[in-house]
Amino acid sequence: MGELIGIADRSAGCAMDMAGGRLFVDLAAIRWNYLALAQRVAPAALGAVVKANAYGLGALPVVRTLAAAGCDRFFFAHLSEALAVRGEIPAAYRLYVLNGLMPGGEELCADTGIVPVLNSVEQARRWQAVAQARGVVLPAVVQFDSGMSRLGVSLDEGAALAGDAGFSANVAIDFVMSHLACADEPDHAANPAQRELFTRQSVLFPGKPRALANSGGVFLDRGFHADIVRPGIALYGGAPNPAQAHAVRPVVQLDARIIQLRTLQPDAHVGYGYSHRVTTPSRIATIAVGYADGWPRSLGNKGAAYHAGIRLPIVGRVSMDSITIDISALPEWALAPGDWVELLGPSQSIDQVAADAGTISYEILTSLGQRYDRFYRDGGVTE
Ligand SMILES: *Cc1c(COP(=O)(O)O)cnc(C)c1O
Repeated sequence: MGELIGIADRSAGCAMDMAGGRLFVDLAAIRWNYLALAQRVAPAALGAVVKANAYGLGALPVVRTLAAAGCDRFFFAHLSEALAVRGEIPAAYRLYVLNGLMPGGEELCADTGIVPVLNSVEQARRWQAVAQARGVVLPAVVQFDSGMSRLGVSLDEGAALAGDAGFSANVAIDFVMSHLACADEPDHAANPAQRELFTRQSVLFPGKPRALANSGGVFLDRGFHADIVRPGIALYGGAPNPAQAHAVRPVVQLDARIIQLRTLQPDAHVGYGYSHRVTTPSRIATIAVGYADGWPRSLGNKGAAYHAGIRLPIVGRVSMDSITIDISALPEWALAPGDWVELLGPSQSIDQVAADAGTISYEILTSLGQRYDRFYRDGGVTE
């Protein structure tokens, strides 16, 4: 019990909190990023991509924050994601399903006013049929494939839809869209090529707003912004391209709890596979976050945690529930069991961790585990 009280005392303000990690989501930073991006693209409008639970950060708090800041369009990947939010926010906000109109989802979509992105002629026909059967005009987005070969209709398929009086009579096109494959590489030749094809595709629906840019596209020149942009990662603090690392504010802080400390003598080994061998006397801390919490296993003997701005390298492999770090760079009194070290925050960005792990910031965020205590901060207030 004495030990437990000691931990509680050190965890300042969350006495009941025994989790191995604590995750802070800064809603004020999300709002700041939204306003910065919106200002950058004005007079184009900004719809927020909140798929995958707002990249792991919590769809509902993120949607509420952005709605209060003036955002009125939200993009999800799946109908189920949009449904989870639909009842929680006023009907005036438009919710879109990027992955398309799945068979079986048509009636639910129509009942709830959620707007499907039509990614194929077959999806367009099904939506048209639902509208016809109900005797109403239903809203939709038409997506064109402008080069990525992932989702959307071709120029010819779009022409067939645009020329079909039945489709026009039953489906109200909210806007037309396409998606850039290489927007995080501003000089990539695919960017102007995709824009040029999308321009030819979008004129098939004259007068309809056009949407092309993700976060990377927001940082391309104005010609890529069209009428509506759809950023995701930049809202959540991810760099839209490597040269724009400071264009947005960090949103996430992740701390891991120290659960044990030891001093090792030369020739001692650390972790599974004995993959790290100590060559000088070293102080090792075990922290209670592992790959089950979304910390990439590829960061074994790579990457670091931080304390007071000091880099504490990961030594040994990442285990399921723990990681070992070398804290020899700190004075002996600096850390004790129950204390926290930083995994994400002022000393280490999601882009830095992603680079160390050989992945992208999107994967770091969307992998964040379910075992953390989560706190939402808005300015000075933490919930
Ligand atoms: C995920 C997604 C986005 C957002 O991309 P970011 O790179 O996170 O800004 C935009 N549009 C579509 C179609 C997407 O699938």
